[in-house]
Amino acid sequence: MNPFSDTLLAGKTALVTAAAQGIGRASALALADAGAAVFATDINEEALASLAEERPVITPLRLDVRDRASIAAVHERTGPVEILFNCAGTVHQGPLLACDDEAWDFSMDLNVTAMFRMIRAYLPAMVERGSGSIVNMSSVAGAVKGVANRAAYCATKAAVAGLTRSIAADYVTAGVRCNAICPGTVETPSLHERMRAQGDYETARAAFIARQPMGRLGTPEEIAALVVYLASDAAAYTTGQLHIIDGGWTG
Ligand code: NAD
Repeated sequence: MNPFSDTLLAGKTALVTAAAQGIGRASALALADAGAAVFATDINEEALASLAEERPVITPLRLDVRDRASIAAVHERTGPVEILFNCAGTVHQGPLLACDDEAWDFSMDLNVTAMFRMIRAYLPAMVERGSGSIVNMSSVAGAVKGVANRAAYCATKAAVAGLTRSIAADYVTAGVRCNAICPGTVETPSLHERMRAQGDYETARAAFIARQPMGRLGTPEEIAALVVYLASDAAAYTTGQLHIIDGGWTG
């Protein structure tokens, strides 16, 4: 279901990272349904391919956001975009003492540094044109509240909040908006993997649901609707904010 007009983003081009599955995929579809031309990027080319079959306005492109050369090649291919949704991220499970240097560095690189690199690539043209909307994927975890067993994850998502606010402050007069999304727990393939990894899928799932006041998890489509709103001119007066969408978890 598309809650928006199919011309809301007419004439705009969007780029989404981590678009092969989960929130990124739902967002690529929702942006397309709202009228944008969409570059859907990911390292999983096979899963990306079906997106173009679902919506011809979606162009799938292989992009490893941890790789500077890959970002440069994709930037060369796409040219400027009006909407950049930095969705890629990984969840390292465990408290600080269970997080080694390698896991910490990997989380920082994928969740924060990759975003910094993507914005460095796409922001100059937005500034030159005097408009653009950047949406960064943060999380309730870290940016809003401490969540147990998510030391590296919380640190990275708090860093995304700071990065977002700094970009918003620096480029507000240039007409570029930058907002972050802070979801609670959302039904996505990687969440299901994490539930399975805990040994007993049903018990793990019940524990996730038990902390949700609504008694259910969020859907990727619900997060995608917020992405479309923030990407659009309907959100023209909003920048530098953390948009919490968590079914009342932190309310
Ligand atoms: P997911 O974890 O199921 O999928 C992640 C996607 O990222 C995959 O398609 C994978 O191929 C891609 N990817 C991995 N490494 C990549 C790289 N180097 N370059 C490009 N793509 C790469 O998706 P999800 O659960 O929807 O999570 C998406 C984002 O939302 C993440 O940043 C996550 O932290 C955040 N988030 C998720 C939840 C949740 O409950 N699912 C909650 C809050 C925030």
